Amino acid sequence: MQKYIMALDQGTTSSRCILFDKAGNVCSMSQKEFTQIYPKPGWVEHNPMEIWSSQLAVAMESMAMLGAGADEIGAIGITNQRETTVLWNKNTGEPVYNAIVWQCRRTSDMIEELKKDGFDRKIREKTGLIPDAYFSASKIAWILENVPGARARAEAGELLFGTVDSWLIWNLTKGAVHATDYTNASRTMLFDIHRLVWDQEIMERFGIPASILPEVHPSGYVFGHTAASVLGAEIPIAGAAGDQQAALFGQCCFEKGEVKNTYGTGCFLLMNTGRSAISSKSGLLTTIAAGVSEEPDYALEGSVFVAGAGIQWLRDSMRMLKSASESQKYCEAVEDTAGMYIVPAFTGLGAPYWNQYARGTVVGLTRGCAKEHFVRGVLEAVAYQTGDVIRAMERDSGICLKSLKVDGGASANDFLMQFQADIVDTQIQRPKCIETTALGAAYLAGLAVGYWKDREEIRENWQLGKVFESAMEEGRRQRLLKGWQRAVRCALMWAEE
Ligand code: ADP
Repeated sequence: MQKYIMALDQGTTSSRCILFDKAGNVCSMSQKEFTQIYPKPGWVEHNPMEIWSSQLAVAMESMAMLGAGADEIGAIGITNQRETTVLWNKNTGEPVYNAIVWQCRRTSDMIEELKKDGFDRKIREKTGLIPDAYFSASKIAWILENVPGARARAEAGELLFGTVDSWLIWNLTKGAVHATDYTNASRTMLFDIHRLVWDQEIMERFGIPASILPEVHPSGYVFGHTAASVLGAEIPIAGAAGDQQAALFGQCCFEKGEVKNTYGTGCFLLMNTGRSAISSKSGLLTTIAAGVSEEPDYALEGSVFVAGAGIQWLRDSMRMLKSASESQKYCEAVEDTAGMYIVPAFTGLGAPYWNQYARGTVVGLTRGCAKEHFVRGVLEAVAYQTGDVIRAMERDSGICLKSLKVDGGASANDFLMQFQADIVDTQIQRPKCIETTALGAAYLAGLAVGYWKDREEIRENWQLGKVFESAMEEGRRQRLLKGWQRAVRCALMWAEE
């Protein structure tokens, strides 16, 4: 039996590699940041060669740290920034353009066009996504339209498209395998999540030839083997999943109704909805959950735009904090926010409000308000916004939340976690290992090669770090929520005139 499973975690700002053992322990970890390219306002790119070279470097480094040979690696699992788009020449491996990153807004106009004849509704039904420039489809179309000769070469069968997982698999196998998994495919806006096939009609609408698209497999699946020259042996590449779906799996949310929330710059909430793809009435996305089965589970996904970003704002722009973690001390120094609410709608409001014109609002200020109340107002807002998304998920799915598993940088904040438990009136479970994204990729790969027997064995690895029980009196909770709703109405009203 091999000792380790290797997780390649290809994120938006850095490439990381973690070697896990059978108990799910982090045995070694290596990380390398890479260049963010901003050619114009609102445009974001990465150099695909730098994505690949940084990922390979950390893979080798994490092995070197333990003196581990390639024969000690049971399998590789990949998790990646979702939606980011790479096109490359299938004969030379040369990218035809930089990777267009999920954040890039250059194709917003193309998305607006879809609304004119109602094609946006069709996309929603088939892909589960609300059409947006985030997703890969319009980014592929942009490259084909704007890079000289790209369309002709694509139509001649010379080019390949991939999200970052495909790009890494192709390079790890030295061009032998062009594939992706259900979760990454489900973020391209080209994949019919019900029939589990690339959708001809959407491809035609965006002018995307079928020949450039990868094969699609379950997330836990032996996609191929690394070429022996890459890491020193032929290692099975046995897992691939988008970062948020990998985290859902890493948190062992295998059953219908289980939810995780990642508290990072923004929050990403995913609820496993089992075999049914539930279409949301509240503007949540329907997406495919990671698994090892040909018939996948589905998930509802909602996000909060400003979570940790609000805490960064307090630190860097308002200069109220020296560090993000200092926020806890200020929050705990006061009983409440002295009747004040902060709605950090810096870039509009997402689910369930969906108003891109709403702006940040502070209401209820009195002379008694101090910095402590202000800091607390921003942290409470993270919990209120998360609560709004959770309620929307419950309404859409008819599933009542039993408990919430958390991870991400800001989940370290005990005040925030307790307030979250109080305001949603549910139990919060914070695991010991918060590297859930990489762990999810490792689990998928390890299951596919039999390193772990089944999900039950994996579940035994999940170790609770701390539980936060709801302890707020119902009357107080209702009063606070009512105040929050009024504050949100103020932020929306600001957008009206
Ligand atoms: P990302 O992956 O989006 O970069 P991370 O999971 O690394 O995010 O989390 C970083 C975010 O969490 C930052 O926005 C930071 O402000 C916030 N954060 C980190 N530690 C704390 C803390 N103890 N309390 C509150 N916020 C925190």
